[in-house]
Amino acid sequence: MTTDKATTGRAASETGDPLLLTPGPLTTSASVKQAMVHDWGSRDQGFVAINKMVLEKIVELAGAQGTHVTVPVQGSGTFAVEAMITTFVPRTGKLLVVMNGAYGQRARKIAEIAGRAVATYETPEDTPPDLAALDALLAGDKAITHVFAVHCETTSGILNPIAELAALVARHGRRLLVDSMSAFGALEIDARKVPYDALAASSNKCLEGVPGLGFVVCRKEALAACKGNATTLVLDLFDQAEGFAKTGQYRFTPPIHVIVALGKAIEEHAAEGGVAGRGKRYRENAKVLIDGMRAMGFRTLLADRLQAPIIVTFHMPTDPRFVFQQFYDGLKDRGYVIYPGKLTVAESFRMGCIGRLYPEQMKDALAAVREVLDEMRVSNGGPALAAE
Ligand SMILES: *Cc1c(COP(=O)(O)O)cnc(C)c1O
Repeated sequence: MTTDKATTGRAASETGDPLLLTPGPLTTSASVKQAMVHDWGSRDQGFVAINKMVLEKIVELAGAQGTHVTVPVQGSGTFAVEAMITTFVPRTGKLLVVMNGAYGQRARKIAEIAGRAVATYETPEDTPPDLAALDALLAGDKAITHVFAVHCETTSGILNPIAELAALVARHGRRLLVDSMSAFGALEIDARKVPYDALAASSNKCLEGVPGLGFVVCRKEALAACKGNATTLVLDLFDQAEGFAKTGQYRFTPPIHVIVALGKAIEEHAAEGGVAGRGKRYRENAKVLIDGMRAMGFRTLLADRLQAPIIVTFHMPTDPRFVFQQFYDGLKDRGYVIYPGKLTVAESFRMGCIGRLYPEQMKDALAAVREVLDEMRVSNGGPALAAE
């Protein structure tokens, strides 16, 4: 059973909490939460075995057995991104940051703070990078050693052409660093087909674990050359990997409960059919959501061909009776938590399709949207009506 409306009068997760239509932290299964109700010592053999399984399964999901190793980083996803950039780009290197949203901006800031030379290539938040322009940029700036790109830019929900971009970067003999935070585990990115030196993701997005662990899938040969690159002790992936190789241990206290929960979440991911199965459910969720919202007049920021089935950005309705805070609170009262917009170009809000949510719950969320619109006496979620 995934909803409990009969007893609570509103939507809820298996444990009675509101459903999170957000890009993470997100709604997790009761069994993932239940996995955390124990204490382990960090040297406990049971925990060490679970951690090893988690790191190996992540490499398998990446299609990277033999060639890559998973290096975990305590903290949120950004800790993994910062660890990736500062470990892989040497102090004499230059990073080209491909940006079309807040996460690309954040990567630029990380590289700048670390004192790395940075070049940027930016397109608007609703526009994927132009590969011909990138081609020219790479041809024209031989100092660029690494390229950073975001797989699904969660700012808008846009799916960037990561495979084509990876092929282009490889053709120029440069190294690719991927932020696949909001895509990994649901959208295929197979290391055998998409060449990269490092890919960062975290426990609390499409793998449906709880927040607290970032990880970087590192090409072993590339990581081996990273000794001494890092600008901080805690985010040094080379050192972290060496620690595992020597002792099987984290250098500093690991988020044990998070890792055990992630082990359970990865089991459930496999039971759902792995990346393909998880992606299929998210695509169904996205379709129900987008079709239903459009039927109420809402407009998506992105054309369908650019939309990843992860999070959907909707334009703010123009009806003056629509008040976002009231909309947000009305949905929250009914058990659905949505997400404010993060766009710089337009007023918007976002609704996520990921986490332990099923099409049936997306339909229920749509019914709640309708109710709240009716309460505000907003008949249409789109642009102003000509009749009014
Ligand atoms: C969630 C996310 C991150 C990491 O964010 P944290 O808040 O640090 O977990 C990084 N990049 C993308 C694209 C994301 O969606």
